[in-house]
Amino acid sequence: MILQSAAGMVPLVVRARMAAGVAHGVPWGISLDGLLASEIRENTKAAARVAGIDYTPYSLDAVPEDLDLPLARCSGDGDGGWHWAATFAYPEDEVPGPHVQYWSARPDQQAMDQMSAQLPALVSERQGRYRSRVMPLPLTVCRNLVWRAVGDPIAVAELLAPIMSIGKKRGAGHGHILSWEITEHQNADPSEFAHLHPDGSLGRTAPASCLHDLGDVHTGGEGQMGLRPPYMHPARRCRVALPENGMG
Ligand SMILES: [Zn+2]
Repeated sequence: MILQSAAGMVPLVVRARMAAGVAHGVPWGISLDGLLASEIRENTKAAARVAGIDYTPYSLDAVPEDLDLPLARCSGDGDGGWHWAATFAYPEDEVPGPHVQYWSARPDQQAMDQMSAQLPALVSERQGRYRSRVMPLPLTVCRNLVWRAVGDPIAVAELLAPIMSIGKKRGAGHGHILSWEITEHQNADPSEFAHLHPDGSLGRTAPASCLHDLGDVHTGGEGQMGLRPPYMHPARRCRVALPENGMG
């Protein structure tokens, strides 16, 4: 494992002060590199709209391109299995859970009536495509979310500043961020900040070669997932060590 960093990149702690908590669909936290990549994507999309040029949308069929993030890179296995030097979110001052909220949805009969010329007398709420749903929503309730990284503190701060909420069900008020705080840790071990949570457990997906170099690290086991954003894209899937389950 070799860390490749550009001028001005230092070990960082990124801290999001949360209003209440964050909702997530996977057992581990939101990745910092994924957050930065989607922000760059949004900015590019907005710029394309203003300039009136076409923007290639995210597609499951195409191999995703790697955006240039203001983070150092870990060479990983040195054979295409590289990753950004940043962890997934780790909760600080957590209120012990599990916290599970349920949300429900039912189709709007009046709206369906307006959209369809031949609506059956009764659209069942119990079966079929338009049934009512009750879905569980796991929450992590904590004061702060913390990420560790090696990167350019100013560029990272600029990208994160406009992000007001993260995670799932943001429209319902979940994942609201009160403020972002970025601190430099000049003397910290960069390979530790590129991989590990503050408690020393594995803080991100990593190839076996990284674990080999990090020594005796607690992980969340092995699985098929990405090493870089977009993490859930089929083309990104490979055998990786999973982060310790720090959330929920
Ligand atoms: Zn690595």
